[in-house]
Amino acid sequence: MAERESRIPRSGRGFCRLGCLSLDFQFTASGVSRQCRIRSISHAAFESSHRSAQSLKSEGPRVWDEEPFDSITFHTAIEYLKESKPRILFISFGETDDWAHAGNYAEYLNAARRVDGYIKTLWETLQAMPEYQNKTTLIFSPDHGRGPGLESWKRHGKEIPDSKYIWMAFLGPDTPALGKRTNVEAVSQNQIAATLSALLGESYGQSVPRAGQPIADVLRQIIRPPETR
Ligand SMILES: [Zn+2]
Repeated sequence: MAERESRIPRSGRGFCRLGCLSLDFQFTASGVSRQCRIRSISHAAFESSHRSAQSLKSEGPRVWDEEPFDSITFHTAIEYLKESKPRILFISFGETDDWAHAGNYAEYLNAARRVDGYIKTLWETLQAMPEYQNKTTLIFSPDHGRGPGLESWKRHGKEIPDSKYIWMAFLGPDTPALGKRTNVEAVSQNQIAATLSALLGESYGQSVPRAGQPIADVLRQIIRPPETR
């Protein structure tokens, strides 16, 4: 998610599935820096609510070496959101990927259903906070697709060509509500960072010239002339 106005300091943090990493977004005068610091979140950085989530993560049984369950990632992130009010928040959910690799379709569906609920909760939380209400965009996308067959759905990568297809969802005050769209000009994952930056009034292309361009349909209400609104 990204908050477009400037009352909140220009900072961000990511909550990722790889052991719950912290990722600070760096802004410069010329745009968003391509360099991000990644470090483990320490107990000292957390208030009591965060410490509870960290304890659950470190003390609970582990199915995967480096990844907590999505519930811990989500609730840690939502507490951080309420407490620190970052301008950008990145959350990475990993259970659907892990359960699919394990071939556990039932848990794959359960994980997807939980994430649906997390997105709803995140959006409702944002709309209940004056710092974010009606001026925050939610961007949601998988980082890769999966194979289409009874076996290949468990995998992705170069040997599974169909896994290159993904989808993206954008929800916010600068984006027209166009619903589910098909048969439109293809857009690519390498446009997401530029689109996020544009929503914040920054130019990602100035820092990363090879990156994709912002997605025009997402920004239509920003670039539309005022007299046509
Ligand atoms: Zn995977």
